[in-house]
Formats: sequence, C-alpha cells, structure tokens
Amino acid sequence: MKVMKFGGTSVGKPERMHDVATLITRDNEEKIVVLSALSGTTNSLVEIGAAMANGDRAAAKQVIDKLDAHYQTFISNLLATEEAQTKCRAIIAEHFEFLNIILKISFNEALNKDILAQGELMSTKMFSCYLEEKGINHMLLPALDFMTIDSYEEPQIGSIKVKLSQLLNQNKDKKIFITQGYISRNARGEVDNLKRGGSDYSASLIGAAINASVCEIWTDIDGMHNNDPRIVKKTVAIEQLSFDEAAELAYFGAKILHPASIWPAQHYKIPVKLLNTMQPDAKGTLITEEAGSVGVKAVAAKDGITAIKIKSSRMLLAYGFLRKVFEVFEKYRTSIDMITTSEVAVSLTIDNSTHLDEIIRELEPFGTVELDKDQAIVSIVGNEIGKTEHILSKLFESIADIPVRMVSYGGSPHNVSLLVPASYKTQTLQILNKGIFGLD
Ligand code: ADP
Ligand code: ASP
Ligand code: MG
Repeated sequence: MKVMKFGGTSVGKPERMHDVATLITRDNEEKIVVLSALSGTTNSLVEIGAAMANGDRAAAKQVIDKLDAHYQTFISNLLATEEAQTKCRAIIAEHFEFLNIILKISFNEALNKDILAQGELMSTKMFSCYLEEKGINHMLLPALDFMTIDSYEEPQIGSIKVKLSQLLNQNKDKKIFITQGYISRNARGEVDNLKRGGSDYSASLIGAAINASVCEIWTDIDGMHNNDPRIVKKTVAIEQLSFDEAAELAYFGAKILHPASIWPAQHYKIPVKLLNTMQPDAKGTLITEEAGSVGVKAVAAKDGITAIKIKSSRMLLAYGFLRKVFEVFEKYRTSIDMITTSEVAVSLTIDNSTHLDEIIRELEPFGTVELDKDQAIVSIVGNEIGKTEHILSKLFESIADIPVRMVSYGGSPHNVSLLVPASYKTQTLQILNKGIFGLD
C-alpha cells in the first residue's frame, strides 16, 4: 500500500483535481490519498480566525462570503452533471453554515482550530464527489478518526497505527482511501492541526503507520531544488537525498517539506518521493537511507530567528553552566536551533519567541543577556560535506561581504549553518548559488 499526498496547488483548480484523479488511478496499488486544502483556503481561514479574535465580525463575514463564492465556481467547473453539482453544493453548504454560525458565538482558540480544519474537510469531500461522478470506487477516511496528537502536540504514532489498521481492515474491499492532511485531534479530543504545511507530516505519519511501500509528496515543483526557487533564479532539482539531508533541509527552511515531515518516514524506513503534479513523469527527488553522492546538495534559509547571547566571566570554570541555560529553554518548551560557545559566552538561536521575555528574565542571573532579533539561518546541506574539497574555503570566500553573526559546523556531518541578519538572507542565498553551485 502506498501514500500519495497532493498539496494545495495540486488540488487548487478543478482541472488539477481532475489530474489528481488520473494520477491515483494510474496503477492498481492500494493507496491512501492525502489532500491539502485548495491553495489559498487555509490563508483565508487564518484571516477569518484573526478577524474574529479582533472582534471584527464584518471582516470575517466578508472573507467567508468570498470563499463561498470561490467554492461555488469551483464546483461548477469540477463536476459535469447537475445532479453531482447539487449534491456537492449541499455538502459544502454545511461547512459555510458552520462558518456563519461561528460569527454569532463567542470566539476561542478551540473554535479557531475548527475553522482551520474546514479547508481539508471541504477539499476531500469535493474530490470524493468528483470520484463518485467518475465511477471511481473509493472511500473517505476521516483523519479525525485516527490522527491524534498528545498534550505536547506530538503525534501518537502507536495509536495512529492501531486506529488506521482497524479502519483499513474494516474496509478490505476498497483500494483507494481519501483522507485529510493537516488536521488531527488533540489530547482533549478537540479538533487540532499539525501546523502550517502539515499535510506533508500527515502523509509521512500515515506512511509510517501502514508501513507504506512509498510516500509520494505531489506538489507544484519537480522535487527538492538546490536552492530556494522563490528567491534564486537558477535552481536545479536534486535526484536523490538521504533522510538526514532531507530532514536538515526541511527543518532549515526548504518549504517543499514540513519541518518535521521526514522523521516518521526515516524511523520506519519508508522511501519518500517528491513529485510534480504538473509534470508527473519528471524524475523528482527520491529520499531514502542512501544519500546517492557525497558533497553539498542544497542550501536553505529559515527566517524569524532570534539570537540570544549569555555572557558570563564565570562560565569557563563553571561546569553545569550550560545545563542551567538549557533548562530554562526546556521549561518554556522552546527548542534551540543553533549554538556556539566561547570561553566566556554562549550564543544560541530560537525560532519561537512566544516565551522570550520569561526566558530572558530567567537567564539574567547567569550573566549579561543580549538579543539579536530578525536573523535568518542559512544552512548548507549535503552528505559528509566536510569531506568535499575546499568546501569551507569556497563557502567563506563567497560570503566575505556578509556580516555573519554565528557559524555552526560539526553538529552533524551534513550541515554548515550560518546566522545572518534577515535583511541579508536573499543576498546570501544568491551568492552561495554562484559560489558553491556555479549557478547564476
Ligand atoms: P504544497 O502546497 O504542494 O504543499 P508548498 O508550497 O508547501 O506546496 O511547497 C512547494 C514550494 O516550496 C515550491 O513551489 C517552492 O516555491 C518552495 N520551495 C522552497 N524551497 C524549495 C526547494 N529547496 N526546493 C523546491 N521547492 C522549494
Ligand atoms: N492547508 C494547510 C496549510 O496551508 C496544510 C498544508 O497545505 O499542508 O498550511
Ligand atoms: Mg506544503
């Protein structure tokens, strides 16, 4: 059995959904098809929630009405017969009724999560209507019946496995299952989600849970590129990556994959393929245990980073100093991305500044605390990059004019990370494209 995940752009137009139906019926292998919301929908749902949180019901209503109109047109073009359209409109109307009802009740975070879930619920139901019209045998598998996260927002892989295999066993006659990416149930039983871009994570978790032959991530580009195609003009697709390399790239900003989406596949040894819905026969990227080749494969960048420096003259002799520092971050469940040390100071970076004030307050007794906000981590990723000839000299020559704040190398053999002011991110990625890959 395999997993095929289609992202927002891949289902964002009626003709794309038609293509998805073709792609999932190209072979006879049993499959779980994971869909995102239509592109743009989750952004609109975020807007609705934000307007509600601000008490601006009129603004929320405006976004709801615009979205509703978009779905009406979508259905007209997705389905051929009047009968199928009427049925689908009735299904979608229930979701818009829900959105209109929430305008009248008091808003809270749990309700916000319910709002955010509507995108994937609607896209899967509309796709199911289309498959039904086409006579393609399939079954809708509600993600909320099996995808769960614990009180630390971590997926409960054991329970996902059990629930999913029960559902599949009850429906042995079916070959195609359709389910929602992104959405889950939390420890309180409420509707929740796996964070933005989370459908990749859903796909990987499902792949791990069913021990899939492959987890295919179908998107709008022909695989992982050597650099961010939104920022750099000339980029090329990478044919093969190891799980370690892909995990580093996803974590350090390559948007094509959700930051956490590699570990389930890696842990359960499920190959991942990144494929292009618009060019289904392009090679794409294969991600397995094997890296394919040694050397730099790609660079990626992650925004919104805060650097924290703690300077203490007593640090050198004080064993236990780092433990005390790390405990503060642990207490506030804030993960550290980069760390560098000297005799008298330690610098580290975080991307979640929700508890920054509390963290600083608790660090102050240890020494002088300095902050640099609006930083970006630029990561150079590749298998055993240290073994690549002249790689470090090439790297540092290329970035001679960039005010680098931190450098981290040696934590893993697959990564060199630089911390630069966010305003230098674009320039750094462009310079590295030429300096390391020889691409303009
Ligand atoms: P989906 O909706 O299918 O999940 P995303 O928009 O989340 O698609 O991810 C695909 C996008 O990721 C691409 O269109 C591309 O702009 C962006 N991207 C950023 N970095 C990379 C990279 N290194 N390789 C490929 N795509 C990347
Ligand atoms: N629809 C969600 C988002 O836009 C999840 C996803 O597309 O992966 O973030
Ligand atoms: Mg995505």
